Amino acid sequence: MRRSSAVVSLLLLALPVAASCSQGVSGPEPAEPDAPVVEDMPQPAPEQPPVEPAPAHAGAATEEAEVERAEVGEAAAEAEPVDPLAAYVSSTPRCRPEATRCFSIALHLTMPGGAPAQTVDWVSGQVRQANRLFASIDVSVQVDRVEALPPEIQEIDDRAARDALGRERFSRGALHVFVTPRLADVDVDGAEIRGVHWRYRPDTQKRWIILSKIASDLVLSHEMGHFFGLPHSSYDISLMNKSPRDAPPWSERRFHDRELARMRRHRDAMVRSGMLVNQANDQADDPANDQAKAKPPGAGE
Ligand SMILES: [Zn+2]
Repeated sequence: MRRSSAVVSLLLLALPVAASCSQGVSGPEPAEPDAPVVEDMPQPAPEQPPVEPAPAHAGAATEEAEVERAEVGEAAAEAEPVDPLAAYVSSTPRCRPEATRCFSIALHLTMPGGAPAQTVDWVSGQVRQANRLFASIDVSVQVDRVEALPPEIQEIDDRAARDALGRERFSRGALHVFVTPRLADVDVDGAEIRGVHWRYRPDTQKRWIILSKIASDLVLSHEMGHFFGLPHSSYDISLMNKSPRDAPPWSERRFHDRELARMRRHRDAMVRSGMLVNQANDQADDPANDQAKAKPPGAGE
């Protein structure tokens, strides 16, 4: 019954490596036609007890049956997830406990066929890699908000569509990440890319990340590299180097020390300006509050 279980199939096949802003993909295939359409917002279907056809005179009995149906309905509703997208927050990796900087991801999911464009596991993979790779600059991220995009937003075909994604949805303080079934390469006709760090053209201070569902789990980290001020690079070790190469293996690629230094500066500037809000500060405050509250009765101030 959970809609997330009916999610589009994962894509693991080979895609021509289009000039892409993001890499880290060993070769997924182009978006296959969507999985069979999932019912739009299926209603909880309580198993109703067989109800005798109400005799003409039995107003009271009918009322009882109505009450019973309502109760059964409530029980069924309790068994259903209240919000089918809640698992994108509750079941994806949290900021590393040791991180002193924890930033929120606001996740915006397209809903092709009525189901999220990608799974909780896929989002978890992206966040897990980001938290591993950004530990070097003491940055951790976690999905704190998730929303379903309206059905008219699906594939992102051009610059205007990239702008439109965040026009009404961008807010300062969090990293906004959109997931689409297909992200067109706006520079190469017919090609698609796996991810992009996009600056809203009317106001380039506003920035967000768009991921295609074909992205490998390192693509969020690459785009976050851009978000934290990095251009593409030519360091062999770097995730920001788009040149095809065999070594080092993907598992060893990370950010070059010079890139780390640059990202630290951008990180601090973004915190100072409020572009990112450190959630770890709140967490750090809590224990102090709890300690204060935990003073035994009668203890002095
Ligand atoms: Zn890039």
